Amino acid sequence: MRAFAPFASSAALLVAICTGAATAAQAAYEGPLFDTHLHYNEEASDGDTGPYPPAEALARIQRNDVKAIVANSRPNTGTQTLAAARETRAAGVTVVPFVRLYRTRADYTNWFRDESIYEMVQIELARGTASGPYRGIGEFHLYESANANGPVAKKLMALAEQRKLAVLAHVDDVAIDLLMSHAPSKGQSLRLIWAHTGIGGPPIERVQALLDRYPMLMGELSYRPGLTCEGGRLCPEWRALLLKYPDRFMIGSDTWVNQRWSSYDDTMRGYRAWLGDLPADVAQRIAWGNAAALFDVR
Ligand SMILES: [Zn+2]
Repeated sequence: MRAFAPFASSAALLVAICTGAATAAQAAYEGPLFDTHLHYNEEASDGDTGPYPPAEALARIQRNDVKAIVANSRPNTGTQTLAAARETRAAGVTVVPFVRLYRTRADYTNWFRDESIYEMVQIELARGTASGPYRGIGEFHLYESANANGPVAKKLMALAEQRKLAVLAHVDDVAIDLLMSHAPSKGQSLRLIWAHTGIGGPPIERVQALLDRYPMLMGELSYRPGLTCEGGRLCPEWRALLLKYPDRFMIGSDTWVNQRWSSYDDTMRGYRAWLGDLPADVAQRIAWGNAAALFDVR
């Protein structure tokens, strides 16, 4: 036995080297990022006196090589500010503006039946931004799926499809079906971005069934339960899903509270780490290409 011991340990050494080599090969993704879920709310900017005035917000975006953002804010003045800011142009960041449905926090739980929200959306769409017309509606929330059947929710889904506006929806899987049913195409041509791809973590099979049913459904991946495993690497079943649907997922910061602005670098570093677990072309699509194609950003 003793004579074989050196052989046994060199085999073990070989395994260790191979494993080490595989880990080293999974280098972080280093290309550009498209942040498809960015909020610039009033408590972040607070006019120009908040903790994250445009120069500070843009510095964070730029130093992470985020080249384009879906911007929305409560109220919409934050988006208007970012879209017009000198710093945005100086940073070379493309703003894709969305109309948020919230003037105040009270609107979170009432927008789907509040006619004045529909009117506000019409006014914002007519007004546009310094970075061009609004390209989408949201983010909005539905804490009860049935509220997807509210009269204003129905009208907004029809409007979104008619005007080719994307919809950023923080909803559960049941509400995805309901929202899609209100579009004239019954969901075949509604550009719906599913915020967090379901923050409640519906099973992979359910996500897959919805992606199959609705060809323009996209999954945004912030806060997605089950996405990453030990060391922030992709969990195997999610890696398989992303490889199966490389055109259907995107990343986002979800700066819904100021803490998310303070940890913006960590969020983006986290994305870059697990994107490195994917083949380079798939990583590039999820990081940038899918959103760039959706919004025609070059
Ligand atoms: Zn959000």
